[in-house]
Formats: sequence, structure tokens, C-alpha cells
Amino acid sequence: MKPPAFRYHDPAELGEAVDLLARLGPDGKVLAGGQSLIPLLNMRLAAPAHLVDINRITELNTITAEPGGVRVGALARHRAVERSAEARAVQPLLAQALHHVAHPVIRNRGTVVGSIVHADPSAEMPAVLALLGGSVRLASSRGERDVPAAEFFVGPLETALQPGELAVSAFFPALPERSGTAFCEVSRRHGDYAMAGVAAAVTLDEDLRIRSARVACVSVGPVPVVIDVTAVCGAGPASSVDWDAVADAVRERIDPEADIHATAEYRRHLTGVLAVRALRSAADAAGESEE
Ligand SMILES: Cc1cc2nc3c(=O)[nH]c(=O)nc-3n(C[C@H](O)[C@H](O)[C@H](O)COP(=O)(O)OP(=O)(O)OC[C@H]3O[C@@H](n4cnc5c(N)ncnc54)[C@H](O)[C@@H]3O)c2cc1C
Repeated sequence: MKPPAFRYHDPAELGEAVDLLARLGPDGKVLAGGQSLIPLLNMRLAAPAHLVDINRITELNTITAEPGGVRVGALARHRAVERSAEARAVQPLLAQALHHVAHPVIRNRGTVVGSIVHADPSAEMPAVLALLGGSVRLASSRGERDVPAAEFFVGPLETALQPGELAVSAFFPALPERSGTAFCEVSRRHGDYAMAGVAAAVTLDEDLRIRSARVACVSVGPVPVVIDVTAVCGAGPASSVDWDAVADAVRERIDPEADIHATAEYRRHLTGVLAVRALRSAADAAGESEE
């Protein structure tokens, strides 16, 4: 199928893009990697009157890794972030999760920020941002604002981004020392959206006892579901944790729905299994970071 008719704009500067978006209001849609938007247009599930292609705004093609975290610009492709050694050193969860995003061809074109703005409840990047307590920087003709992940994701394919705003970057904070992360998911075929998936982060104290353990679950709610399981893990080392109790605690906090791929009960069960798997890997990585 072909997309409905639209007017195409390709500004070369950020100022030009936000002025254009301010003028267009709800009639304007940003085009980044096009890996979600173009299929939606072709299937006629979206019909914006104007597309604002940001691919010529090279100032948005940035990946900045600093001790406090990684800032990913709106034109940084999934693949570039996945392969960035600097980003991996500061926040390894990015590459761990990006490995599960679609196929390399799609990762070559799709953007991390586009994935966050698209806000598919089955997508990996929103869960990573939510777990880390990151934020999204939005620019408009009125200036810039930073929106924390907890406020950014409003519902399936729905965010706090307002008409006239452009997401210029997303910030993924680093974790404290003696932290480890992991991402586990199950999909019907590699590269498909996950039936269930879990991002995990564990921080240990100086005696290698669990100080913090959190997960963010995908495909089991309208937005990424962040769950703090520190109390269930107890204050001992990872080897002393009652992992069955952790799996049950995660299952209690989610409310998955059935679809053609899986029943709600299967998704609930799987999420518990994946949460334990991810948390154990994250705890191992946290212990190794101390060696
Ligand atoms: C076959 C296939 C499998 C896939 N599997 C997965 C998967 O397993 N996991 C996963 O997470 N994703 C998957 N994707 C989606 C892929 O990750 C997309 O790249 C991503 O969702 C959107 O990024 P994009 O840059 O392509 O955005 P686009 O398609 O260009 O835009 C998507 C939406 O976000 C808006 N938008 C994009 N950037 C901005 C911005 N800077 N400011 C404001 N609005 C913006 C657009 O207006 C549009 O509404 C898959 C895609 C395909 C085709």
C-alpha cells in the first residue's frame, strides 16, 4: 500500500524544525528513522498532513558518554549506540537491550529517541529509560524542557510530547559503583517484538550484599512496568535470595493481556522467569565489576 498524501519538509537546522513544528501543530509529524512511522503510513493507520524529516539536522546525531550517564541525540541510530564503546562503558544496559531490538537492517536506520517517542509497550528502549530513571529533552519554539521517564510514558504509543515539540535527546543515567545490568526477553523469532522482556539493575554494597534490585518489564502493561524488588531479595548476597519469591513478587505487580501470541497467564509466568534470569545476571555482573 502507499501512504496518504502529505507535504514533505526537510529542515537542516533545529531552530528551523521547531519553528516549522510550531506552525504545523497537530498536523505535523516528525520523521526520524521511519522504521515505525513509514509502515503506519503505508497501512494508513496514520495520515499526518505534513512530515518533518529531521535527518539533515546533523547536530542531533550525537552520543555523549560522561561519567554521569549517556545522552543520545535524536539522530543516533540504534546500531551506533549499540556499537559505541564509550556508551557501553558508562551504561552497558543500552547495548544489552539494543541487541534485542528488531534486526540489524532496522537498527541501522531506526533511532533510540524515535523508539522512545513511539512508546510501544513491547519496545526495549522505553523500559531501559524507565528502569534507569532517565529523561527526554523536548524542544519547541518556547524553549526546552526535560521530562522524567516516569512522566513521559503515558500509555500505549502515547507520551507527554505535545504538538509542536521535538525530542532532541534522551539521557540514560549511569549506575553507582558495584552495579550490574542485564536484559532478557522471549520473542517468537529473534528480532520480533518481545512476548515478554525484563531489564534488570542490581547494586551491591561493599560486602557484596544486595543494596538495590529493580526490574522494568515490557509487553505486560500499557507502559514499562518498573518494580523494586530490593526488599524481597533481602539484605544478603545474591546466593541467599529466595528467587521463587522474587518471581512471585514480579508476577503480582503486572497485569498482562492476552493476544494472538500468548495468553495473559503465560506472559505473567514468563515475566517472572525472565526477571529472575535478568536479576541473577545483573547481580553476577555487579560482583564481577568489583573484581
Ligand atoms: C520489522 C520490525 C521489527 C521491529 N522490532 C522492534 C523491536 O523488537 N523492538 C523495538 O523497540 N522496536 C522494533 N521496531 C521499531 C524500530 O525500533 C523503530 O526504529 C523505532 O520504533 C522508531 O524509531 P524510528 O527512528 O524509526 O522512528 P520513526 O519511525 O521515524 O518515528 C516513530 C514515531 O516517533 C515520532 N518521532 C521519532 N523521532 C522523534 C523525535 N525526535 N521527536 C518527536 N517525535 C519523534 C514520529 O513522529 C513517529 O510518531 C521494529 C520495526 C520493524 C519494521
